[in-house]
Amino acid sequence: MKNFLSQLNDTEYSEAISNKLDTPEKLIQLLLKRVHPKNVEVIIDILKHSIMPSISSELNSATDVLFEQLKKNPKDIFEKSIQTKIEKLIFERFEKDKKIVIQKTEDISKLVLLMEEYFNEAIFSSGNGSKKVLNIKEKIEKIDVANGGVESLTNLQKELVVAAASIEQEIKNVTNKLENGKSKVEELEEKITSLENELNKEKQENKKDFLTQVLTRKAFNEELIKIENSYSRLKTQYAIIFFDIDHFKKVNDTYGHECGDVILSTFGKILDKSIREVDLVARYGGEEFIAAIHFNLDRELLQFLKRVKTIVTENNFIYKDKKLKITFSAGVTIRDKYPTYDIALQKADTLLYKAKESGRNKILLDNGMEL
Ligand code: GH3
Ligand code: MG
Ligand code: MG
Repeated sequence: MKNFLSQLNDTEYSEAISNKLDTPEKLIQLLLKRVHPKNVEVIIDILKHSIMPSISSELNSATDVLFEQLKKNPKDIFEKSIQTKIEKLIFERFEKDKKIVIQKTEDISKLVLLMEEYFNEAIFSSGNGSKKVLNIKEKIEKIDVANGGVESLTNLQKELVVAAASIEQEIKNVTNKLENGKSKVEELEEKITSLENELNKEKQENKKDFLTQVLTRKAFNEELIKIENSYSRLKTQYAIIFFDIDHFKKVNDTYGHECGDVILSTFGKILDKSIREVDLVARYGGEEFIAAIHFNLDRELLQFLKRVKTIVTENNFIYKDKKLKITFSAGVTIRDKYPTYDIALQKADTLLYKAKESGRNKILLDNGMEL
């Protein structure tokens, strides 16, 4: 009996002891539980199939070697070292399949990303390509990922390639159209530039009085701001002069309005030709003119005033076959004698009024001088 017991494996031995299997008859029950070698072969076969990777097609030579050995000696399956090998192979099988699943998922992600890219492109295109993409979008929405979704995605991939080609063609067409349009745009740009130039010219001309071609009162006031700025920064000395043609109404009454216009225009030209670039002259209204004249020495200002007076009074104004004598009166103030431009202007007007009152054909300066 002792001899029998020593033939048992550990599990059988402890079962025999604890259940007091002390006769050969009793031991038969225990031994019947042992697996028949034929059955072991079937189990080994099932085990082999369960160890082979189901998704990965990668072959595992270690599995083949092991199961060749087990085929020859099925009993080896009960060896501890063989069991450890089987455990290791099962683990490897899962790792291999897992790797393939991850890779496939990545492929689908890439496909989805590409689809997104093409949709974005389609937004900028309006032809056939975008219509195709819209159809595909509907199909994507209908895909049942759980039931054969991967196959649908593969078909979709083909359709996307067609749609992408169509979008590419559209982009090419748009590019061609843009290139043709470019020369049109350049043409328009040229036209705009020439119109801008004309507009600027017009603006400059708007600054001038139509009849006399000197500045308008509005333009004079705008330009005077610059002179005033330079005056307050650099104390650039200048004089304000009001001119008014004497008895002008009489000219109109005697020789007609057209003659009056010629006189005004000629008077404007005389003033315009007598000033320098830094100076201003404008028609203040009717037959009244204003000037802002820069000077360093009083002498220079007096020379200017005398020159204008000489030209106007010592020459004849010609209208048709008539020669006319014209005089004017003026009031002159020097800017730095007054706190503001407006006060200096007011004073020049007062001096002009005084010149008129005291007999006309005279220029009155704010230092009491008379020319
Ligand atoms: P005073 O010596 O006091 O300045 O006398 P005046 O006649 O020159 O002055 P008044 O203010 O009495 O008359 C100015 C005239 O100027 C009246 C107006 O018809 C005329 N006038 C104003 N603008 C124009 C114009 O553009 N063309 C013509 N021809 N006459 C104008
Ligand atoms: Mg007058
Ligand atoms: Mg007047």
